[in-house]
Amino acid sequence: MKHEYSHYFSEVVKDLKPSGIRKFFDLAASMEGVISLGVGEPDFITPWGTREAAILSLEQGYTSYTANAGLLELREEISKYLSTRFGVQYDPTNQIIVTIGASQALDLAFRAILNQGDEVLIVEPTFVSYAPLVSIAGGKPVAISTSPENGFKVTPEQLEAAITERTKAILLCSPNNPTGSMLNKSELEAIAEVIEKHDLIVLSDEIYSELVYEDEPYTSFAAVKGMYERTILINGFSKGFAMTGWRLGFLAAPSELVSVMLKIFQYTTMCAPHMMQHGAIEALRNGYHEVETMRASYRRRRNYMVQTLNEMGLDCHMPGGAFYVFPSIKSTGLSSEQFAEELLMQEKVAVVPGNVFGESGEGFIRCSYATSMQQLQEAMKRIQRFIETIKINRKE
Ligand code: PMP
Repeated sequence: MKHEYSHYFSEVVKDLKPSGIRKFFDLAASMEGVISLGVGEPDFITPWGTREAAILSLEQGYTSYTANAGLLELREEISKYLSTRFGVQYDPTNQIIVTIGASQALDLAFRAILNQGDEVLIVEPTFVSYAPLVSIAGGKPVAISTSPENGFKVTPEQLEAAITERTKAILLCSPNNPTGSMLNKSELEAIAEVIEKHDLIVLSDEIYSELVYEDEPYTSFAAVKGMYERTILINGFSKGFAMTGWRLGFLAAPSELVSVMLKIFQYTTMCAPHMMQHGAIEALRNGYHEVETMRASYRRRRNYMVQTLNEMGLDCHMPGGAFYVFPSIKSTGLSSEQFAEELLMQEKVAVVPGNVFGESGEGFIRCSYATSMQQLQEAMKRIQRFIETIKINRKE
């Protein structure tokens, strides 16, 4: 007889839905000749110097645990990096933890601050992990919708309206996944006033901070006046340094917050992998010029994508960063899921339907341009052809 398991599972986990992105890409993976604009990771291999440092680390026998918070040498490099790049100062001895990707830093932060029923404001369309992580930590995700009319940016008024006596934190992600939208200094300052007034904590997901394409310098939320004490800064190596598979990220925060997160981390994880940390030290010491080369390549592709999509009648705002465009497909009369499914079946191009990023993502698709220009050009041709067929079918 088949064993029944559901009564063993935690109620919270039972209610979690599988990520809409994975579901879709399992289907695409089973087909031949698909061009995928779906993946959220760089198409570059990690620069050689970084890989070599990790190999050397293994050869030299660095196979033990490290300090819980990570190698002090790496924390020192992260501290220098945060200071030179973003002008924020963190003490490597007690204000930084090296984590298993930004993903784990997010998990740690939510677990450290949330009590049952505490509310966390999440700006939609949004990265798919935030709401489930809040729920797993016992909190309640509260969505705030944005739209292309305001550049997919949250306004201070929207924040004010969403705050209740249970609101504890807000998650900010700039540049954003999936919209690529980026908040500038004055927009962050306006948000900061509301945060201060309501005594909130901010989780600032800055994982795309190296992938910004405008001339204006990137502002870390911790650098905004009055926000250092309230910010858990989350960043990592996956995107800017092309190191997704290394699973290395970090968080930086006031030491009181870090010590609580470290308590959880020492029991759940112990430390990030030793040899990978040696690679990351090298990436920060000598790998920055390669980040710049990758950024320039993404910028060219972003410009191409935005222009081409708009020319074919899919309204697409110009994203400030990350490697996604988020065009509207409303003019086709299809839902996001229909568009993505039919495009995959007819033209073998995989994109992510916008509704997986929250209700306000309906009517949009996410296309990642972290793939070669040649592939992008072919994908754009196919999308153009797909739109033509829809138009013809509608006329008939
Ligand atoms: N935050 C955002 C906004 C992301 O898009 C991603 C990866 N898709 C992550 C965090 C997780 O990154 P990591 O590989 O460092 O865990």
